[in-house]
Amino acid sequence: MVLDFIVNMILLIGIISLFNLTRYIFKIKKLIKMHKDNPNIQGITIVNGEVKIIEKTPQSEKKESVVSNQVIDEICGKSIEENKAYRIVYGEKEHCFCSWECREAFIKKKQEEGN
Ligand SMILES: [Zn+2]
Repeated sequence: MVLDFIVNMILLIGIISLFNLTRYIFKIKKLIKMHKDNPNIQGITIVNGEVKIIEKTPQSEKKESVVSNQVIDEICGKSIEENKAYRIVYGEKEHCFCSWECREAFIKKKQEEGN
């Protein structure tokens, strides 16, 4: 009798895990179908019973966000990164410079032009 009970328990646990396994397989199959055309899929993971897709971030997009716009210093003609430039708004237009000296030179030049 005791052996029967143990065998039944093992069978029950086996059926439950088999049921869960098939459920996950169906979920994964469905996810794979949904994301079939996505080239950025790295893999599939199960988090808290939820099947999730691991997507890799495209590298080209990352690079684009790192490289900022290049602007030209009007005084010395150097090419500088926009987010590192010294700026001044003059005549409703923003001017960018490589250094504080170039910015000062621009202001001086504009003052001389104005006189
Ligand atoms: Zn400069």
